[in-house]
Amino acid sequence: MGSGVQWLDCGLLALLGLLIGSFLNVVIHRLPKMMERQWAAECAEMSGTEPAPEQAPFNLMVPRSRCPHCGHLIAWYENIPVVSYVALRGRCSDCKKSITLRYPLVELVTGALFGFCAWQWGLTATGLAWCAFSAALVALALIDWDTTLLPDDITLPLLWLGLVASALQWTPVPLSTSLWGAVAGYLSLWSVYWLFKLVTGKEGMGYGDFKLFAALGAWFGWPVLIPMILMASIIGAIVGIAMKFTTGLREGGYVPFGPFLAGAGFAALLLGPDTLRQMVNL
Ligand SMILES: [Zn+2]
Repeated sequence: MGSGVQWLDCGLLALLGLLIGSFLNVVIHRLPKMMERQWAAECAEMSGTEPAPEQAPFNLMVPRSRCPHCGHLIAWYENIPVVSYVALRGRCSDCKKSITLRYPLVELVTGALFGFCAWQWGLTATGLAWCAFSAALVALALIDWDTTLLPDDITLPLLWLGLVASALQWTPVPLSTSLWGAVAGYLSLWSVYWLFKLVTGKEGMGYGDFKLFAALGAWFGWPVLIPMILMASIIGAIVGIAMKFTTGLREGGYVPFGPFLAGAGFAALLLGPDTLRQMVNL
């Protein structure tokens, strides 16, 4: 603990985290739009309408980022995590309109999470696996908050990586505990969803929530599912009620559950799954 090498590992991974955080900002912004485009194309194809005219490519790499206000093309030196935001004092270099504080915050949080993983596990396969876990949760939490979507492109690889990490003993969770965690995570929320739907006729959450909870079960094992779901539900309910009394709920009155599941995943990562279990006496 605290050796020079360890601090070097922390610094290196924190730096990598800042860069990945910058990429996550792009993912959070573009992945839902890419999914919408794909759905629109598939719908058009199935309904046999004229194929839409060829659109300009839109993915995580192209087109290059622009200022949403004036269209100013963002140069590489205006895109350095956190540093550019501070140097530009949070404003577009062209139109001087403010850049959302979320960008540097996502970078800082991802950097801090990667630094934490390096501090816990060093620059090892285990450390890197937990970095990937953290990055996926940051992206899922914010995409769900913004759009109420939890893309399969993130939840499913996260689930598989949790099982693989367990099989390769990168995590201390035995493979069977991890596998049953995934199964129980999925089925528990699936049952709640159908029960809620039969009783009220409404949909309380989506299939993305089942997959995310399955992934958390794979990473931490089935015994941690109950403390995680309790934590996510209680905090989610508090936030939902607080929003009702302050700003008023958004359209449809729907608070997505994914960000709170992700929050419980972060709690299990940062505090340790055992602490989480002790908190609820399980
Ligand atoms: Zn601008």
